[in-house]
Amino acid sequence: MNDLTMRFLFFISLFLTTNSFAQKLSKADKSIVANLKTSISYLADDKLEGRRAGTPGEKLAITYITSQFQQAGLSPKGAEGFQQSFEINDGKEIGASAIFSVNGQELKKGSEFFPLAFSPNSGSIEAVVSLSLSESGQPWFKDLGDVLMNNKDNPHFDINSEIQSIIKNAATKGAKALIFYNSSNLADNVKFDPRDKMETAAIPVFYLMSTAREKYLKDLSADYDITLKSDLAEKKRTASNVIGYIDNGAASTIVFGAHFDHLGYGEDGNSMLRNGSKEIHNGADDNASGTAALMELAKLMKKSKSKQNNYLFIAFSGEELGLFGSKYFVEHPTINLTNVNYMINMDMVGRLNDSTKTVTIGGYGTSPAWNNILSGIKKLPFTVRYDSSGTGPSDHTSFYRKDIPVLFFFTGLHTDYHKPGDDADKINYNGELQIIKYITAVVDNSKSLGKLAFTKTREQQTGTAARFSVSMGIMPDYTFSGSGVRVDGVTDGRAAQKAGLKTGDVVVQLGEHKINSMETYMQGLSKFKKGDSTTVKVKRGAEELTFDIVF
Ligand SMILES: [Zn+2]
Repeated sequence: MNDLTMRFLFFISLFLTTNSFAQKLSKADKSIVANLKTSISYLADDKLEGRRAGTPGEKLAITYITSQFQQAGLSPKGAEGFQQSFEINDGKEIGASAIFSVNGQELKKGSEFFPLAFSPNSGSIEAVVSLSLSESGQPWFKDLGDVLMNNKDNPHFDINSEIQSIIKNAATKGAKALIFYNSSNLADNVKFDPRDKMETAAIPVFYLMSTAREKYLKDLSADYDITLKSDLAEKKRTASNVIGYIDNGAASTIVFGAHFDHLGYGEDGNSMLRNGSKEIHNGADDNASGTAALMELAKLMKKSKSKQNNYLFIAFSGEELGLFGSKYFVEHPTINLTNVNYMINMDMVGRLNDSTKTVTIGGYGTSPAWNNILSGIKKLPFTVRYDSSGTGPSDHTSFYRKDIPVLFFFTGLHTDYHKPGDDADKINYNGELQIIKYITAVVDNSKSLGKLAFTKTREQQTGTAARFSVSMGIMPDYTFSGSGVRVDGVTDGRAAQKAGLKTGDVVVQLGEHKINSMETYMQGLSKFKKGDSTTVKVKRGAEELTFDIVF
């Protein structure tokens, strides 16, 4: 086909596509599209700095969503007006009163020294010591340079477990504190890890940067008057869901949800950018699109004649960190969850691809009623791809875990996913309008059916589990900040269920592998293959239980 014909055909299809949508747009539809453009452009504006949970950008979004809910005539259904705030545990940070001084000169926290993240908080320790002496009751210095030199040809050498054993040894021999430094030019990769979950050490432990040692403690045999204080604090931030309600005086309530938080500058390590640059991730599709659709649905349901259900609208925060906002809501519901009829989640509904025109609807298997309700919607402007699972990488999972039927709307991944390029000018607004209209048809088709029955579905394999030859068939709780891996869900018929594990258990050991974080859990799992059997130790409340497990 020659270029001229190609171009002619291209323009015809473009004209037809846009015009076919445009032609059908009523006045009401046009105003919905205009509102979507306004909301998505605002939420995805650089001013909101990527709406990271717990930041000023998130607060601007909260103010905007709240005013939209108010204009739509919703009543507040948060814990504080429209808001439901919750804390995010960001791990540890160096405490304000941490000290390391040498002959009266204070070293800089973080850049010259830091207490290791598993160091216990301590009072002030004062002593006159030299780097070469290790006397009981005194702080000791330990040169990691020697350790590295001695192990530079040892492929199995693990600095972290070596550090643990050095600490244990020093503590046993009466060291009051331990200060690591590295006089060699071999890298030791010792860092302050805010998310560290190692057991607290027996004595305060510090790391001294080599530049600082050169500057303040150059002479290894000299005596120095030092003062030490180990202080670590919990790093927390507060985020907020925004919740509005339409009370129709009905027995059951339909929940509409969409997360409005996004990645900020990628500080939480969930950016797809691999160059380490700190850029604003505008999150127009993820998920300003769903949030804008939520606000338009609020306006439509307020005017709707379908009063057989009440309607609850939740803009979640903290989703990008691991469904924090929706988990918090189902654990602290502001309405009675048993009256929830079903939940509709919209996450990335703004990039309906003009060629494939496919919308994925997840949760199809979570109620026997969905088949009739959805197949009853005719003349679809897009193709529907059904996914039966009630779980997946978004907020409907939190409701599914409470045995609530869910539907999840998603227009698919694209090259701008979790990148700064996810901008408002790439949104398919007409496509999003069609999805909103589809959702109102779902509500309409279900209105005379009363409360829908719930059915369990298979668990969708997400991220980590899919990469291993074996898995236990548990859903980890990513919001858990304690030591171990908390079980958020157990998949029917899989190893964990057969072994006897339950939701709420905290996995602390797999065979001989101690588990204190997702990382050590995955390391432990990777040691086993299909058919292997071992034991799994869990904490269940105050009890510690051990089960035999077969992969
Ligand atoms: Zn998202």
